[in-house]
Amino acid sequence: MIKLQYNVDSKRISTRIEQLAGCSSTSVGVTRLPFTVESLEAERLVEEWMKAAGMTVRKDGLNNIIGRYEGKNPTASVLLIGSHLDSVIEAGKFDGVLGVITGIEVVQTLRDNGVILDNPLEVVGFCDEEGVRFHSTFLGSKAIAGTFTAEDLERADENGITIAEALKGIGIVNPYDYKNARRTPEELLAYLEVHIEQGPVLEKENKPVGVVSGIAGATRFSFEIIGKPGHAGTVPVAIRQDALLGASDLISYIENIALENKPLVATVGKLTVSPGASNVIPGLVTGTLDIRDLNVERKQKAIDAILAESHRIAESRGLQIKFDQVMEVEPVYCNEGMIKLIEEAISERSGSVVSLVSGAGHDAMAMADVTKVAMIFVRCKDGLSHHPDEFVTEEDMGVGAEVLYSTVIKLASKQ
Ligand SMILES: [Zn+2]
Repeated sequence: MIKLQYNVDSKRISTRIEQLAGCSSTSVGVTRLPFTVESLEAERLVEEWMKAAGMTVRKDGLNNIIGRYEGKNPTASVLLIGSHLDSVIEAGKFDGVLGVITGIEVVQTLRDNGVILDNPLEVVGFCDEEGVRFHSTFLGSKAIAGTFTAEDLERADENGITIAEALKGIGIVNPYDYKNARRTPEELLAYLEVHIEQGPVLEKENKPVGVVSGIAGATRFSFEIIGKPGHAGTVPVAIRQDALLGASDLISYIENIALENKPLVATVGKLTVSPGASNVIPGLVTGTLDIRDLNVERKQKAIDAILAESHRIAESRGLQIKFDQVMEVEPVYCNEGMIKLIEEAISERSGSVVSLVSGAGHDAMAMADVTKVAMIFVRCKDGLSHHPDEFVTEEDMGVGAEVLYSTVIKLASKQ
């Protein structure tokens, strides 16, 4: 049992996580899309808890909710901590909200301990990170970072309702108020986020929390393998131009490249086989390849190797293989100074520090456009996330809040 040192109330954190889980449009898991009855109910609870922790609360033009805990110097740059309040469909209870609830808990604990920081502290609950409703991620953090655009307002959900209309629906009369959400680099000291790991590393290392070194960049391709269809009973195997066998060679090679370049990850997540009949040799295969790594150079070398191998496979099997790059996301490196503070806070509790690369995108990624960022990951059971069985222990959430507490104190105090 790890003893908590700063009177963080982990029971209160878990009770609030449960309460927010009740703000859902589905009975299985949590479904909380932005600008809905459920999200407004969640924001109402968050507002109540922020006020109870001594914060003044406001909403910005894109409906991000922000609580402010004043510092000794009200004009000093703001330390922003938070995460997102939206979820995927039938999600778990912890993804996103953990960062908001631990942020509020830190403020409550500062207040209970009579600590006033030099810098103002603001806790933010972003309106939309997952991008489920409007098919675009990080909407809330982009508005604050100043990268949300007027075109984004015209993004529509599956019922044809645009973001502008959805904002009007919850009482934001002028959707162009999103511009007021923007913060300048001078206004901000840094952005800090606690998030569940959404992977199995901390569990494997038997650690409650870890520090994030950065968020991996991602390159996505679609590919097409063109062979020659034919009768499955009459064409001898040795002379076939089977597109699926080419895909099979390629996918095995991709796995080997990833294993040789850890922690790079590569995934062929989608494959279609045409004509797709049991008695016809596959003449065409289309698929997707997603490659992620924090190290841009290593990622590019892996991509080059895969493309070279595809030429070799194409030649030896009499196929045509075409790759088309469809997405490129630059990696984000967490701030070295903040990483050090988080490492100190972790080592005070659990000795050795586990450092992780985030393979998933987070609000910190969007916030990196406007200020320095850092993240603390909290262990989740079986590495499972975006699923109703997502689980974090109360004790681990308490440790996450404590590490955040001690990092915040060091960051926002001059001494
Ligand atoms: Zn999340």
